[in-house]
Amino acid sequence: LLQHHGGARVDIYEKLPVPFGLVRFGVAPDHPEVKNVINAFTQTARSERCAYYGNVTVGRDVAVAELRQAYHAVVLSYGAEDNRVLGIPGENLSGVYSARAFVGWYNGLPENRGLKPDLSCETALIVGHGNVALDIARILLSPLHLLRKTDITDCSLAALACSKVKRVWLVGRRGPLQVAFTIKELREMINLPGARPVLNPADFTGLENAVKDAPRPRKRLTELMIKTALEKPGEKTVEMQVAAEQAAAPREWGLKFQRSPQEVLPTADGRRVRGVRMALTRLEGSGDSAKAIPTGDVEELECGLVLSSIGYRSLPLDPAAVPTAGVDSLPLCARVGLYCSGWVKRGPTGVIITTMNDSFDTAHSVLEDLQAGVLDVSSSREGFGAVESILRSRGVRPVSFSDWEKIDAAEVARGKAAGKPREKIVDPQEMLQLIGH
Ligand code: NAP
Repeated sequence: LLQHHGGARVDIYEKLPVPFGLVRFGVAPDHPEVKNVINAFTQTARSERCAYYGNVTVGRDVAVAELRQAYHAVVLSYGAEDNRVLGIPGENLSGVYSARAFVGWYNGLPENRGLKPDLSCETALIVGHGNVALDIARILLSPLHLLRKTDITDCSLAALACSKVKRVWLVGRRGPLQVAFTIKELREMINLPGARPVLNPADFTGLENAVKDAPRPRKRLTELMIKTALEKPGEKTVEMQVAAEQAAAPREWGLKFQRSPQEVLPTADGRRVRGVRMALTRLEGSGDSAKAIPTGDVEELECGLVLSSIGYRSLPLDPAAVPTAGVDSLPLCARVGLYCSGWVKRGPTGVIITTMNDSFDTAHSVLEDLQAGVLDVSSSREGFGAVESILRSRGVRPVSFSDWEKIDAAEVARGKAAGKPREKIVDPQEMLQLIGH
């Protein structure tokens, strides 16, 4: 918007004091290169025509209707901050966590800082075959010295140092041709030092033929799984050293297919998880749209830790102004000037570049509406001036981008001593104190 409209001003509202959302709190700490998009955000936020207001919860501190009165256009871009639930008995037992909470915990998301996951068991089970599932498996099994150099929080590093987890099963309800993770992330897992992949060759019988005409990414991904499943430790020629190390690896991980969790089983005292009962499934149909149908057979798998990694979901932010069904369900006249982009619009899929492109599309729609006269900008709107008085009357003090830069500097300084890029501050009160709020 700023680039294509010389007169536009953009204010960005954020619930937490600190910016960057999933880039800070979702992207794995050992993937720093993925976080480079922070530089683009920072450059934009520093523009004279852009302002950042953190520590403002839209829907509570200021209503969407109030924002719509203050601005010519409002874009909802708040992602998917909740997780889907399995909806099976035992899901609330101690030792069962949502991937979202677990990822939030190791990434310093304030609401998950007190999670204290119990890592005292040897076997963990992750439900789901997506990239988040692989992220978690990798964090659970990574050698500590690799994590120490990242911005993972100190307290999760300490918990991982005492972790007894040495085996991680990733369980999917469909087959190898339907996994949702991508090849780069799988390869990283396969090459993880000190952890051995355990794939059952029988799961891959006949698949080479089945993927012959599949799109290239699916074909390559399947071929990598087949190669890994068939390769005996020590057989690799190019990667002999890795193979030798892996044969002796103290930790292991594996993919289990066509198993749909039915119940999380409790220990005898009924307090903790001791395993998961899974319905075996057969596939109806083929390719991406194949459906998992229970065969009637079940299997129990023992584990002391269950992580449910079956995707994220958006929460309604201000049901009075935006129906749960989304902006598009509003009548046309009520929709003028209200836009959405990213996961809140398209659902929780795709990587950062997908979301960036989607936001460019949204900006394009705003500019088109402006040009076509759909957006009436003939009278000026007060923008933050109007919102500021609302916030003041409600006792809310926003955090500016330069405030964030002070928090940022403090985090970087704290990390330096430990050789980390930063030590994240996990308590919002501490952040606010630091900037004198
Ligand atoms: P995802 O890619 O949608 O994967 C969700 C997984 O959960 C799928 O395997 C799905 O299986 C399974 N699932 C859903 N409901 C289930 C149920 N009721 N029972 C059993 N299994 C169920 O979601 P995600 O892993 O949360 O990732 C979200 C997005 O972020 C993805 O686009 C991902 O690529 C991206 N991401 C990327 C990276 C990276 O690039 N390194 C890292 C993290 C996340 P079905 O297919 O059978 O539904």
